[in-house]
Amino acid sequence: MTQSLASVVPGLYAHNEQGELELTGSFCAACQRYAYPRVEHCPECLQPTERKPVGGKGSIYSYTVIRTRPPFQLPEPYAVGYVDLAASGLRVFGLFHPEVIEQLRIGMPVALEEIPLGINNDGQPCLRPVFTPAVKSDEH
Ligand SMILES: [Zn+2]
Repeated sequence: MTQSLASVVPGLYAHNEQGELELTGSFCAACQRYAYPRVEHCPECLQPTERKPVGGKGSIYSYTVIRTRPPFQLPEPYAVGYVDLAASGLRVFGLFHPEVIEQLRIGMPVALEEIPLGINNDGQPCLRPVFTPAVKSDEH
């Protein structure tokens, strides 16, 4: 069903061999540094970087719930925040799954998921990567 929808930004994320979703960033072999969003050249040494997954699992560093009218037909309210990725150590900014906003807590383990959400720059429905609690809650 979701195959007919395109990702909001092609190349932003990909499934790894375990079938888990990971953000696609960049890696500088000289500095052993990851970056996300992806950069063509290392900000430290200016060498060309290679495209590399930076992870999809981590814990919530901070988040906020936004109750003003959302862009791109996102649900209202929606939540954004920073997640510390376990695989790369990067702190990345992202959206949270709109159905779990009430469950979000700082330090909570989360994993990346791809869901149909909102529209893209061309006004077309699209898929977006969202962070969702890594352990399913039985609370509802
Ligand atoms: Zn470098």
